[in-house]
Amino acid sequence: MKLIKIDRQSLNDGIEKSKADYRVFGPVKEKNDHEFKLLEKSEIPDLNFQNTRLSPKSIIYPQSQVMFTYSLDESKDDCRIMKEVENVKSPMAIFGIRPCDALAFPIVRRNFDTPEYQDTYWVKAYEATTFIGLACNSACNSACGTCFCTSAGTGPFGEEGLDVLLIADGDIFYAKSITAKGEAFIQVAGWSTEADPSADSKIDDLKTAAETSISSSVNTDNLKNKTILELYDAPFWEQEAFSCINCGTCTYVCPTCWCFDVQDETHGKSGIRMRNWDSCMFPLFTQHASGHNPRDVNYARLRQRFMHKLKYYVDKYDKGIQCVGCGRCIRLCPVNIDIRRICNKMNSFDAADCVCETTSS
Ligand code: SF4
Ligand code: SF4
Repeated sequence: MKLIKIDRQSLNDGIEKSKADYRVFGPVKEKNDHEFKLLEKSEIPDLNFQNTRLSPKSIIYPQSQVMFTYSLDESKDDCRIMKEVENVKSPMAIFGIRPCDALAFPIVRRNFDTPEYQDTYWVKAYEATTFIGLACNSACNSACGTCFCTSAGTGPFGEEGLDVLLIADGDIFYAKSITAKGEAFIQVAGWSTEADPSADSKIDDLKTAAETSISSSVNTDNLKNKTILELYDAPFWEQEAFSCINCGTCTYVCPTCWCFDVQDETHGKSGIRMRNWDSCMFPLFTQHASGHNPRDVNYARLRQRFMHKLKYYVDKYDKGIQCVGCGRCIRLCPVNIDIRRICNKMNSFDAADCVCETTSS
């Protein structure tokens, strides 16, 4: 794919122009952190950021989302008829999304868009969205010791999940169109589509520098060879979960966590059915109506989170781990529970050694 060259002024002009056709979301500084927000007229994204505190998953999959409305008024013809809420009203563009967060969408899609089941809310929003990525340059990554994207299926210049990849080089940007959706965005933005043949070698150098600056990694090569039961029964879960306070932060900040809970809220004779993000780290997550809870201790909940991401998903899809290495759960866990340590323990766990220890004690 060809690379086109854009100066900063043209970049900003193009973002402004694209707002006529898209609802454009981009990173904006809020107090001490950057977050993705819908850009107002004349508002330009602040691209001087490492990554946002929260991933942009909520643009496609809101934390709370009304699915249906209904009336319980017997005097009305539409009594007890559920009416779907139109959540996606126009095309959207997420501008400046990092490659790790972009890869999270194809990962989540494997759950929400299957031949047997389609989550229409998620699929409609996803299909209405164009993903304009911003590669992480070496300056960003050298300051970010918790990123391990290069061992989690992507990298600072990763393209999976993106429609356009932008690469910054000072005040110059190179844009690589990856899909037809990306091509359409570039047209709307009015950026010159003339290829810059001198850009390829420069981009290769920037990419190599960025990739080599990622010093953190996980080992995942053995996960598939383990049996579910040997990992499930491994002796390290209680120790790893000892300090976990089940706050759920790790799941809420994770771009690849997709669990939700459905509930009804009624006001007088009208009601809404909504869904809200849920977390496998919450004690109530699996509580049955009978009161029985199959995961009533915190190590069982922590084990579920890591077994899902690093074993069940790996076995089911054979597409790597359900983690993009963004590092948010590591940075924000109040008690320093680190997915890299747990992943490496799972990857190197040998049940035979464990049986020997038990037998000899
Ligand atoms: S953020 Fe840390 S303490 Fe909170 S639920 Fe996750 S692992 Fe436990
Ligand atoms: S598990 Fe942690 S590092 Fe992996 S994608 Fe989720 S928040 Fe990022």
